[in-house]
Amino acid sequence: MPMKNMKVRVFSIEEFSVYDGPGIRTTVFLKGCPLRCNWCHSPEGQDFKNYTLRSPNGCLECGACFDVCPTRRENCVACGKCIDVCPRNLIRFAAIDYEPQQLVDILLKNKDILSFNNGGITFSGGEPLAQYEGLKETVSLLKNKIHLALQTSGYAPREHFKEIVNQMDLVLFDMKIMDKEKAKEYEGINNELILENLKYLGTTDIPFIVRIPLIPGVVDTEENINAIISKIKDYSNLRMVELLPYNKYAGAKYKMAGKEYKPKFDESVPSNPRLGLFKEANISARVL
Ligand code: SF4
Ligand code: SF4
Repeated sequence: MPMKNMKVRVFSIEEFSVYDGPGIRTTVFLKGCPLRCNWCHSPEGQDFKNYTLRSPNGCLECGACFDVCPTRRENCVACGKCIDVCPRNLIRFAAIDYEPQQLVDILLKNKDILSFNNGGITFSGGEPLAQYEGLKETVSLLKNKIHLALQTSGYAPREHFKEIVNQMDLVLFDMKIMDKEKAKEYEGINNELILENLKYLGTTDIPFIVRIPLIPGVVDTEENINAIISKIKDYSNLRMVELLPYNKYAGAKYKMAGKEYKPKFDESVPSNPRLGLFKEANISARVL
């Protein structure tokens, strides 16, 4: 039985995506994440709260959005008043809440095109498992209708991880920093849970792809990449590794969200994909 008034809080839905699993896909980004990766390029996906994002481009500095706001835009309560008064339509909510069936209807809108192109639907975030109940219900409504993929940090209670990945046709498993202390420093979490969930995934027959954001000098070091390889090389359900060079525009959305981007690494250093290490380990890898 679906929970009454259950909602899924979504911060973006991207149609016709070609980087989030096979074929052409619709990717839905669920709000909320327990990690605080220093390089995160979706600050609006981190917290569960809703608020407004204000684009600085084209602002008339008319002040209308401040005048109407009960908190002078200091602590948004998502009343929406500023959205209504902006003459340039520069303000929008960071998230939209959907009932699972509503969300499913949107995600299946292009079902025929997605299926024809060997694609499907990918759940991403934030960390989609952080909205476990809503995700579970949405997945149950989609199961066997279309190819389903989950992009996850792996940071979720084992039972939640297990329940959702067992409904998936593919898992995109993010791997970042292997050193426990550095993971705490740069991601804000204890990575043991992630490694435990990876181990579980390796015991299943669910195909998975490991995705590595190549943060220069932090994730892309020889030592760290070798440590990742040692954790994944023996899993027969590992399909490949996808390497994501650091996105120099990672900080762009922080201003809109009223936050400050403070990378603790040198952004000017190009990412090193270290493809040779994957080749040596006989793991198929590609740079996205
Ligand atoms: S929605 Fe706009 S007007 Fe309402 S509290 Fe948030 S910033 Fe202020
Ligand atoms: S209402 Fe719109 S145009 Fe006016 S200051 Fe606010 S964001 Fe800028």
